[in-house]
Amino acid sequence: MESSIIHDHSYLPHQTFESSNFLQAWEEHYHDLLLIRPPTQHSTCGVCARRKLILKRLAKDPEARRDQMLRYKQHLSRQYRDRACYWQARGMSRLGPAAGGKRTLCIMLDSIDHSKFAVPRARCLGSKDFANFIRPTMHCTAALVHGVATFVILGEPFTMQNSSWTVHSGPHHACAGSTQ
Ligand SMILES: [Zn+2]
Repeated sequence: MESSIIHDHSYLPHQTFESSNFLQAWEEHYHDLLLIRPPTQHSTCGVCARRKLILKRLAKDPEARRDQMLRYKQHLSRQYRDRACYWQARGMSRLGPAAGGKRTLCIMLDSIDHSKFAVPRARCLGSKDFANFIRPTMHCTAALVHGVATFVILGEPFTMQNSSWTVHSGPHHACAGSTQ
């Protein structure tokens, strides 16, 4: 199979390489060996998407377009200030205890969709025949305590994933961080 791929592309030396072609070829021939996910799987910001859509539709109305652009820039500016605030907290957390002994801890906490941990794992389980097949899963939450450690918390699938889960796991990370 490998030689046929090389042969197929050898007569097109003038074509430029594009990562989308590589991903397509990989998915076609090697998806059983390794799955390459797209660069980002995060959903896009709803405000950005809405503003961009409105801007597109206001192409013939410069006044309204200017107003929308102003709102869009204000949103981006707010987002940037949020990030700058996080970068500052992250830096202080990584620096460790200050001269007076006080310490800043910056903790990033996020959970992953528990269905991603369902076992057994096999392509055939995506079929309708297995629609009612109950596969065990686990809740998974990871906490990155900047400058200290990374924690992974696993929970039974019937455990409630709500604010109590977050509140109970938070102090644990803070305690771990304060002992360092
Ligand atoms: Zn946005």
